[in-house]
Amino acid sequence: IGAAALAGCSNNDTTTPTDGESPGGGDGAGALVGVLMPTKTSQRWIDDGNNVKKALEDKGYKVDLLYANDDIPQQQQQLDAVLGKNAKALIIASIDGTTLATGLKKAGEQGVKVIAYDRLINETPNVDYYVTFDNQNVGVQQGTSLLQGLGVFDAEGKETDKKGPFNVEIFSGAVTDNNSQFFYNGAMSVIQKYIDSGVLKVQSGQTTLEQTATPYWKQEEAQKRCDAILGGFYAQGEKMDGALCAYDGLSRGVLTSIQGAGAPVPIITGQDAEVPSCKLILDGDQYSTILKDTRELAAKAVDMVDAVLQGKEPEVNDTKTYDNKVKVVPAFLLESVVVTKDNLMEVVVDSGYYTKEQVESGK
Ligand code: BGC
Repeated sequence: IGAAALAGCSNNDTTTPTDGESPGGGDGAGALVGVLMPTKTSQRWIDDGNNVKKALEDKGYKVDLLYANDDIPQQQQQLDAVLGKNAKALIIASIDGTTLATGLKKAGEQGVKVIAYDRLINETPNVDYYVTFDNQNVGVQQGTSLLQGLGVFDAEGKETDKKGPFNVEIFSGAVTDNNSQFFYNGAMSVIQKYIDSGVLKVQSGQTTLEQTATPYWKQEEAQKRCDAILGGFYAQGEKMDGALCAYDGLSRGVLTSIQGAGAPVPIITGQDAEVPSCKLILDGDQYSTILKDTRELAAKAVDMVDAVLQGKEPEVNDTKTYDNKVKVVPAFLLESVVVTKDNLMEVVVDSGYYTKEQVESGK
């Protein structure tokens, strides 16, 4: 491990020893659990990490919570490091779901239980369970919401008589994240038919996942791509009416680009209900987002760890969707909620997810 990586580890390492109180008995009592998260550049992963850590500690486990700055070698090193410390279980939100096979082989040999968190880990037999949201449905919700914002669908999702044509552009996630294909497929299952019939026009012609992907889900990459699209395809007075954005960071990148160009703000979708985007929704600058309650996700992941460390079977509700090319990983899928200006206060604030002050200030 290089010095930089080590420094990165210790900076981000938030190990908290416990008093050794027994978590539900069995061999796993008081065991160390490694929690690997991809990045701190998005608030959701910070919340995920904190929620998981707290719930594990409440059950008496010791926790190593590590963030990898969206850097694949760093996440591989963190995996090695927690295995070296004799972790008994791992909760991993991977950066690239195909790059952890070597470390996970070691985990398998050591009998360490592995839970894929939110993002599937591909091409390895050494992943035991997967906890996530219904990712295909997240995409369906995003596509539906884009059409509702444009008025092609009504509030119930029924077609109206509005036939456009509306100019839309697509901003997808990172191809290295298994979820991106699911979000894309879900959204396209709703909007493809309207692209085919001419109700929606993609002026850039960029419609495949590869053409619309955003490296590492980075806001500035989406902004750069939107700048190029505006310059190349909207320079003759065309108006962008909609932007199907797979995540709030991309939505904000697109908005910054649009505002920089002095263009009218399109209907912009998103995902994660990040605080700055909640404010943009209240202000009318972002149309929608998808709330994925990370408290529920964290609680489920911790239940899974608790079960496997006690030699029990965790609860799953999907055993056929998530084929990682070596095995179908048994999964628990949670439900997500579409958020617009109309229900934001109810589903985001009244539920206690954020405070009113947070969403109104955007901080
Ligand atoms: C998550 C999304 C998130 C994206 C970018 C995906 O794997 O499922 O909730 O918006 O990563 O962080």
